[in-house]
Amino acid sequence: MSNVFGFLRPYKLPISIALFLMLIELFVELLHPLLLAKIIDDGILQEDLAVIIRWGSIMVALSFLAFVAGVINSFYAAHVSQSTGFDLRSGLYSKIQKFTFSQLQRFETSSLITRLTNDVTQIQNTIFMSLRIMMRAPLLIIGGTIMAFFINVKLALILAVSIPVIVMFLIWMMKKGGALFKRVQTKLDGVNHVMRENLTAMRLVKVFVRHDHENNRFKKSNEALMEKTMSALRLMEIAMPVLLFLMNVGIMAILWFGTFEVNSGGAQVGEIVAIVNYATRITSALTVFSMIIIVFSRARASAERISEVLTHEEEQRGNAGEYSGKRINGSIEFEHVGFSYPNTRGKVLHDISFKANEGKMLAILGVTGSGKTTLFQLIPKMYEACEGRILIDDLDIKNFNPEQLRRQIGYVPQDVFLFSGTIRENIQWGNEEATLEEIVEACKHAQIHNVIEKLPDQYETKIGQKGVNLSGGQKQRLSIARALVRRPKILLLDDCTSALDVKTEASFLEALKNYSCTTLMITQKISSAMKADNIILLQEGQLIAEGDHEQLQKESELYRGILQSQMREEELNV
Ligand code: ADP
Repeated sequence: MSNVFGFLRPYKLPISIALFLMLIELFVELLHPLLLAKIIDDGILQEDLAVIIRWGSIMVALSFLAFVAGVINSFYAAHVSQSTGFDLRSGLYSKIQKFTFSQLQRFETSSLITRLTNDVTQIQNTIFMSLRIMMRAPLLIIGGTIMAFFINVKLALILAVSIPVIVMFLIWMMKKGGALFKRVQTKLDGVNHVMRENLTAMRLVKVFVRHDHENNRFKKSNEALMEKTMSALRLMEIAMPVLLFLMNVGIMAILWFGTFEVNSGGAQVGEIVAIVNYATRITSALTVFSMIIIVFSRARASAERISEVLTHEEEQRGNAGEYSGKRINGSIEFEHVGFSYPNTRGKVLHDISFKANEGKMLAILGVTGSGKTTLFQLIPKMYEACEGRILIDDLDIKNFNPEQLRRQIGYVPQDVFLFSGTIRENIQWGNEEATLEEIVEACKHAQIHNVIEKLPDQYETKIGQKGVNLSGGQKQRLSIARALVRRPKILLLDDCTSALDVKTEASFLEALKNYSCTTLMITQKISSAMKADNIILLQEGQLIAEGDHEQLQKESELYRGILQSQMREEELNV
């Protein structure tokens, strides 16, 4: 949690100004009952108008001073809380960018979104309240009690007994509340999670007519959120009546003993009015305090959740050493590589060895779940191999700086993702420095240029929710162009030509010859694999055959089996 407080450090000056102004407000508030006692005892009871006017004017002037201090304090409180919120969001966002792939899996996406939005808002509100009133409440309680002693020791003792009891009760509430509100935030994660899934899969929900099921799912998580929030608030709401009761008992006692004191000449009426006034002010400060406890308990839970992200270990930006920044040639070699995902049992890759020579194309064939995508993830160092070595340009990948290496890799994932914005922006996302000519060239090679030319604004056409809708194959080709525009030395194509027709795919593979890069292509189609210089066949995480099309036809029974079944399918299609 301390690293969340660390975000306040740059705002020391405005915080000090806000606190100073708050002290002025507090000072005036504490003086008021004293002035009131003076007006009653020396002015009203003595029927001295001049005294009433003098002290009355001082009271008005001080009130005005407190008002001005309050307005400026609000300004600084808003400035500090909003700026800290901004910094926290930026800090969290850039921290998440540095997460390794496996770390990202630890946090649910929806939970990260809640932490970055709602949790930060809780902190923001608390900072604002702290600077505006939070500090005032405890200081008013302490200051009020001291002032009461200053006026009349006997009567003030009654106040002094009841306050510590109440404060201890409130501290207990805060501890309990913190735990309860942490659960509330987790339930909020749940609501966001269902919402996010539903919006992403809206098309599927509609086609499968699963609205009712989805509504129920949302209702359940929404109810869970409501229940947890209610049970947290219920506890918090006990606070106010309890402390009001205790304070009212105290005030009654002051009035009761006060009457005896006035009769015996031990106190003046004005003093009793002043002490009751302090008691009511302290009561209202305690009421504010109980509200603050709700806010603070929530903020504590939120701060812990934010802290969890901020203190998470970052991806090593490079134990880079000698190979950092090196321009690679692109040959890739796996030497007895074994891999299992973090926190899972069972290996996904076993003893994989192969070599893809510089500038050549290697096809990776295998049924779903055989480990093809996993093998791809190891090359840009999304995960580290558990056994064996991976060499790039004959150098162990461990020594490469991940970012430097990734800058030289073009990756086309199986699930296409395009960002909101124009087509040009989406391609340029792959290489910010690419000129329009380079973008057009990449699109020509990816066999998508002709389609783009026919769109209303060509390369400036907006895609996504507010723009044109593209077909699966068109999106695939844009995603390919985004990788090509990087002019990568290693190109990883994860089954990204599945939606392309045979002719388009052939033209694309031909166009790849314009790039001096080593290409690894995951594919389900032997017709595509045939065009590669070499093919490896994976089965249940093991490399079971390697060679070119002719060799595999001769040597691998499995390969022959796939070939025959695909040829039969083609015949049927014809
Ligand atoms: P392919 O690309 O050949 O379809 P994958 O590499 O995606 O196969 O998956 C290989 C195996 O690894 C599967 O059994 C899958 O369940 C498992 N797997 C994939 N991704 C993860 C992950 N992030 N965590 C744990 N297991 C995974």
